[in-house]
Formats: sequence, C-alpha cells, structure tokens
Amino acid sequence: MRTLGELQPKGKRVLVRVDYNVPLDEGRVQDDTRIRASVPTLERLLSGGAALVLMSHLGRPKGYDPAFSLAPVATALETLLQRPVRFVPSLPSSAATREAVAELAAGQVVLLENVRFEAGEKKNDPALAEAYARLGEAFVLDAFGSAHREHASVVGVARLLPSYAGTLMEKEVKALGRLLHHPEHPYWVVLGGAKVSDKIGVIESLLPKVDGMAIGGAMAFTFLEAAGGEVGASLVERDKLDLALRLMDRARALDKPLLLPSDVVAAREIREGAETRVVPADAVPAGWMGLDIGPATREAFASALTGTRTVFWNGPMGVFETPPFDAGTLAVAETLAALDAYTVVGGGDSVAAVNRLGLADRFSHVSTGGGASLEFLERGTLPGIEALGGLSPEEVVP
Ligand code: ADP
Ligand code: MG
Repeated sequence: MRTLGELQPKGKRVLVRVDYNVPLDEGRVQDDTRIRASVPTLERLLSGGAALVLMSHLGRPKGYDPAFSLAPVATALETLLQRPVRFVPSLPSSAATREAVAELAAGQVVLLENVRFEAGEKKNDPALAEAYARLGEAFVLDAFGSAHREHASVVGVARLLPSYAGTLMEKEVKALGRLLHHPEHPYWVVLGGAKVSDKIGVIESLLPKVDGMAIGGAMAFTFLEAAGGEVGASLVERDKLDLALRLMDRARALDKPLLLPSDVVAAREIREGAETRVVPADAVPAGWMGLDIGPATREAFASALTGTRTVFWNGPMGVFETPPFDAGTLAVAETLAALDAYTVVGGGDSVAAVNRLGLADRFSHVSTGGGASLEFLERGTLPGIEALGGLSPEEVVP
C-alpha cells in the first residue's frame, strides 16, 4: 500500500477522501471523533506545502438533501485545524466546484459537499471518478471507515491519480493486521450487536485463529434459538438458524469455546424504567425480550477474558442506548479496559459506548471503522487498500 512517505506534497493540490460521516444535531457536529482522526494526515500535508481538497460522505441521503450537508463539518474542522476551511456547496462534480478549487494556494483548505449527493458515487461511475480526479494532482485515501466501499470517491478516483494511504488508514491497517497475522495468545473475540448476518464472515474467518468467542447482543438469540432455547420475543434472524447451528458445530469441531449468555435482562418494551427481569437466556417468557446480558453472563465473560493477551470486540451486549440495558456493554468495556492485553474495539455503537465511559485511551486501538474493520478481519484486505497497491508480505507481518 503506497503511503504518505512516498508523496512529495509541496506545491501540489491534494485531494483527500476523509471519513466525516459524523452524527449531526440541529446543524452541529455532535461527536467530532472522526474529524479529529483526520487531523494528523491533514497537518502533515499542509506542513509539507500542499493545498487540500477534502471530500467525504455523510449519512445515507437519497440525492441532494440539505439535512445531510457537510457545511457544519467545515466549522468543526476550522476549530481543530486552527485555520480557515472553505466549504464549497455545489455538487463535487460540477464546474462550479472545479472553479472553486482551481486557484488554491499552498496551505489553503476546502471541503466539498457530500459525495453521496452524486448519483454515480455508490455505483463507482467512471465519469464521476474522472470529475473527482480533475480536482487534485494527487489523491490520499484516509477514510478507513469507507475503505470497504467500492465507491467513486474511494476506489474510482484512486485508480486515476497517484494515490496514497493517509496516516489513519495506515494506523488502522497495522492495528487490525496484528489481530489477523500475529496475535499473542490467549486470543478472544467478543461479538454483539444487532445481526448475526453482519458478523458471519468474521466469525468464520476468526474461529480458527482465536482461543474462544463470547457472543452477546441480539445476535446471541439466533444461536440460542437454534440450539433449542425459548427466546420469547427477543430478536431472532429466523433465516439464519441453520447458519448459527453450522457455526456452533464448526466451533465444536475446532474445539473452540463459543460462549453464549446463560442469563439475560428481559423486558416487555424497550423503555427507560420498563419492568425488567433476569431470566435464563434459553427460557425467556413469551412476550418478553432479552435486551441485555445478565449478571451471571457478565461474570462468565469477564472470567473468560481474564488472562487473555489479545481481544477484539465488536457490537454492544444489549440495547445500550436505553438504560438499564447498557449494563452488560459497560461491564464488557470495563473488563477490556482493565486487561493487560492488546485490546481493539471496532464498530460505531461499541465505540460510542467506550467513549461514553471515557475508556477509549485504555484500549490499545479504537477503530474508526465498523463495517470496514469487520471486512478487513474477514478478508485481510479491502477494496480501498487494493486501490492503493494492496499489502506487501512485509506489511502483513511487520
Ligand atoms: P456496532 O455499531 O458496534 O457494530 P451493531 O450496529 O451491530 O454494533 O449493533 C448495535 C445495535 O444492536 C444497537 O442499536 C443495539 O441497541 C442493538 N442491540 C444489541 N443488543 C440487542 C438486543 N438484545 N435486542 C435488540 N437490539 C439489540
Ligand atoms: Mg452500528
């Protein structure tokens, strides 16, 4: 993968694909973690004498929609960079945008409008990629969180300009690569979140490499029901029951423990203050939903993780947005933070939980990519990495 060390930025207009897919609240950036994460790359390019044209997506707009404008991000970025950031409101592919970036001087920064306003972005339309390529003389991909997307602003443009990975991209690939290629053992994976279907690939590819997996969140109920449990009104992916059985068989064949919850916190509705009961995970009463792992499971997961040397965690253990169903997720976050191990957390919601507890700096690595980190762990590469030349054997085992 080509990196910034190979780029001479002086006097160049550098087009940078960043990941500014941040939560907005009434026109203000609610959490600037992803914007902060881009600053080292931007500062390095600016101090090297470049002018910067930044582009990103935000949310899932269907065509142009001012509610998904990146304008508020420009304001937040100005504060972080401590220099002016000009926002260009026209479509990134338009002549107006081309004119706006034509006269940029070294040290100047412009932020383009949401690339998802472009119909061709997700289709990786070659004409759109060409329009992007006209905006810079070199391309830097630093949007790790989007590097699993075959979109025009990620891979399309990378193939048309001299292109390099930014420092965030590099850091993510190194941190996650360690989980794949040279983890210290014992090595455990903790998975939670909403859907088994999002995480099948990673379960299959990591099972042979790990010493065990702990599964919580809604996805546990698909396994519990497949194993013959009564899960009441808990979330189950009925079309994934066979798959869950197959994964459990595979874990058994490999002699790898696949820990499921023994007890869960159940309620009849997802609401703060709802009546709750702690029930066996395989005997949830009809009409009740398992919304968090229970206290016995919290302890079992903590004791399985004690003494581990490597842990990857993705997905909350319950509906952590709504207390008291956040207790299991908070407990796992605290357990991991206290370990003397290489700990990596990835996934928008799990990372939000870690941040809420102020525990981020007690993890070895907090990934800015949810889907991207899972896909990287599953396949060992991503379309964005391939577009930058792929990983050499030395990069895989440094
Ligand atoms: P991440 O963003 O960390 O990758 P996911 O997006 O896969 O995680 O899943 C997060 C969602 O899963 C949260 O919105 C959470 O409320 C939901 N969730 C977790 N456990 C349960 C459960 N037992 N029942 C219903 N939803 C759950
Ligand atoms: Mg999520």
